[in-house]
Amino acid sequence: MFSRSKQKKKARKALKDSNLQKALERASSHHFEKFDKTKKQIPWDEYKEKAIAIREDCIKRLPELIQRFSDEAKKAGANIYQASTPTEALTLIEKILNDKKAKLIVKSKSMVSEEIRLNSFLEKKGYKVVETDLGEWIVQLAKERPSHMTAPALHKTKEEVAELLSRHLQKNVPSDPKEIAKLAREELKKFFIEADIGISGANLAVAESGTLVIVSNEGNARLVTSLPPIHIAIITTEKFVETLEQATTLIKTLIFASSGNKLTAYVSFITGPSRTTDIEKELVIGVHGPQEVHIIILDNGRLEISRDKNLDKILYCLKCGGCMLVCPVFQALGGHVYGGPVYSGGIGILLTAMTRSIKESAHLVDFCADCKKCEEFCPVGIPTGELLLYLKSKKGPKLWEKTLSNLFRNKSLSETGARLISILQKFWQKDGYLKKLPFSWAKGKSLPAFNIKKTKPTEENKGAKIFFFEGCLAKFFFPEIRESVFSSLSHLGFDVVYPSDQVCCGAPSLHLGHKKDVQKIALKNIKSFEREDPDFILTICPTGNSMLKKTYPNLVPESSCWSERIFDFTEFIVKKGYLPKTEISTKKKDIFYHYPCHYLNDLKLREEPKKLLSAVGFNPKEEDEPFTCCGFCGVFSLKNPEVSAHLWKKKSQKISKSNLSLFATDCPGCLFQLRANLKNEGDSFKVFHTAELFAKKVTQINFKT
Ligand code: SF4
Ligand code: SF4
Repeated sequence: MFSRSKQKKKARKALKDSNLQKALERASSHHFEKFDKTKKQIPWDEYKEKAIAIREDCIKRLPELIQRFSDEAKKAGANIYQASTPTEALTLIEKILNDKKAKLIVKSKSMVSEEIRLNSFLEKKGYKVVETDLGEWIVQLAKERPSHMTAPALHKTKEEVAELLSRHLQKNVPSDPKEIAKLAREELKKFFIEADIGISGANLAVAESGTLVIVSNEGNARLVTSLPPIHIAIITTEKFVETLEQATTLIKTLIFASSGNKLTAYVSFITGPSRTTDIEKELVIGVHGPQEVHIIILDNGRLEISRDKNLDKILYCLKCGGCMLVCPVFQALGGHVYGGPVYSGGIGILLTAMTRSIKESAHLVDFCADCKKCEEFCPVGIPTGELLLYLKSKKGPKLWEKTLSNLFRNKSLSETGARLISILQKFWQKDGYLKKLPFSWAKGKSLPAFNIKKTKPTEENKGAKIFFFEGCLAKFFFPEIRESVFSSLSHLGFDVVYPSDQVCCGAPSLHLGHKKDVQKIALKNIKSFEREDPDFILTICPTGNSMLKKTYPNLVPESSCWSERIFDFTEFIVKKGYLPKTEISTKKKDIFYHYPCHYLNDLKLREEPKKLLSAVGFNPKEEDEPFTCCGFCGVFSLKNPEVSAHLWKKKSQKISKSNLSLFATDCPGCLFQLRANLKNEGDSFKVFHTAELFAKKVTQINFKT
C-alpha cells in the first residue's frame, strides 16, 4: 500500500534526481516535436471523434462482444479462458506452462502482465522469463517496473542505460541509442529461437473474426507471437471491438497519440494458430508460426466499472500513454511517483482504483494539479482530472480539508477571517506584499497581501443586465480587477450587479474532496442567479467559470439553464463584439501573455486574450509551445509546494527567455503566482489581469453603446 507521506518523500527525491529530470525532459520534448509535426498532416479531431464513438458503443456491449470473439476465435482454433482475478489468470498460465513442460518464456511488452505480476510469479516457480521489448528488457535488468505504459524505461537517460548494460553484459556499452538497439538485437536473438512459449498482451480484440490486434515498433512482438511453438495472449475485457474497421480506427488513433507516428512499423492481426491448406487443401495446424494459441481474457474489475456511469470512461483508455507526456506533474515526478503501483500518471491512478481499490488510489489524487492538459490531449475523451476529483470525493475529505472547505463555504467566516488577517498583516507587509513567511508553500515568494475593499458598480445603466461573479482570490487580494470590470462594463452601458450573497465558486471544496460543500455552495449561488435573473453572468477566473458552467449542472441539473449565459470577461468582450473598432495606440507594447491551464484546456479559449490585448495597444507574445503551467493550481500548491515550485521554475525559464517585464493573464490564481514569484526578481516586473488593461484603455475613449 502506498501512503501519501511515502509518496511525498519519493516526490522530493524525484525532483532532486537530475538524471530523472533530464530523461523526462528529453522524452516529453521528443514526443511533443513529433506529435505536433504530424498533427498538421492528419485530421486529428476527426480521429478523436470516431474513436470516442467506437469506445462509447463497444464499452456498453462488452459481454456480447467477448462472447462473439470467443466463439469466432475458437472456430479459428484458439483456446479461450476467462479469468476474473489476477490469481485465476496466473493459475491458468501456470497450467499451460506445466502441460507443455515449458522452461524458457519470451515476452513482448504487456501492461496486463505487469498488472498480474506475471514475471515475479513465473520466476518464483523456476521459469526463465525474458522481456524482449528494449524498454522492458532494460527495466527487467534494472529490477524495476515500467514508469510509462508505452515507454517503460522513460525514466532513464541513455547514459544510465549504457551503464546498466555495461554492468550486466560485462563489456563497455556506448551511450548511443543506435548501438544499444543493435546490442539488444544480438543479445535477445537466441531467446526468440529457443523459447518454449511466447507470451504477449494485445491492444485490441475483434469480435467479428476472433482476431487479436498487436501493435509494435521493434518487431519483437511479431517474433514472440510467431517463433515459439505456443503463443499465450493475455487480454483484458475492455479491449473488445466489434469490427475490423473499428479496430483500424482505434489503432491509428492509439499509434498517433502514443508516438506521433501515422502507423507503427508492425501491426499484427492474429486469428488462431498458424496453418496451411497447401497440400490438397487439407488443413494442417502449425507451420512456421505457433501450433497453439491460448487466449486468457482477464476482467479484474472492468465489467463492474463498465456498468458504473460515473467511472465507465476509464475503460475507454487505449493505453497510449500520451497524456503523461503532456502532464506537468508526470514531467516533474515521473511514473514511479505519479501514478499507481502498475499504471502511471493520472490515468494510472484511475486504473489503480479499478483494478485494486479506491482506498489504494485516492491519496494519490492529491498530486494532480487538475490542469486538464491530459483531458485536452486524450484521444478518447477521458476526463481524467474530473474523474480523479470524483475519486477524491468518494474517499471524502480529511479533517483539515473539511475545516478549510467549511471556511470557503461559509461567507461570513471567510470574510471575518480575511479582515482579521488584513489587520494583523500590517506588521508583515511592505508595498502590498508580505515579508517572507515561514511556510513551505510560501518559500521563495513574496505573497501579495490581503487587500479588502468594498466597491460597488456606481452607474446605473439601461443596457443588458450583467451579474459579476468575482471569486475569492480577486475578492480578497485584487479588488482592482473588480473595479476595472465595473468601469469597463459601465462604460459600455451595461447594468452591472454584484450581489452580496454570492459565495465562493466551490473549486477549493471540490479539490479538497468535499462534494457536499460544493453542492451547498452551488445552491447558494444559483439562488442568487435566480433572484437577479441577469442576461449574462461574467467571471474573471476560468476555474470559477468552469465550476458555474459545467460542475453545477452535474450537481444541480436545473442549473444548466444558466450555462449559455455564463462568459469569461475577455471571452465576452471579444465574442460579443465590444473591442474598440479603431486602433487605440499606434505604438504597441510587447506583453507576455500567460495562458491559465483551465483557460486553454477547459474553456478552450486561446485567441480571445490576444485579440483583446492587441485591440487595446499591446503586442501579446506567447511562450513557445508546449505552454507551461505556473504551478499555482489552487490547493495543489498548498499540498505539493515542492512540485509547485518546480513547475514555477519551468515557467520562469520561459519568462527569462522572453526578456519581457510586462505580463497579462486571465486568472487571479495565476496572477497571484506570477506576482508572488516575480516580485523577488525586481520591481520592473508588472503583472495584470487582462480586464485591468482593457479598462485602462477603454475608459479613455467614448465607447458607450
Ligand atoms: S487516458 Fe487517454 S491519453 Fe491517457 S493513456 Fe489513456 S487513452 Fe491515452
Ligand atoms: S489534470 Fe493535469 S496534473 Fe492532473 S493528471 Fe491531468 S495533466 Fe496531470
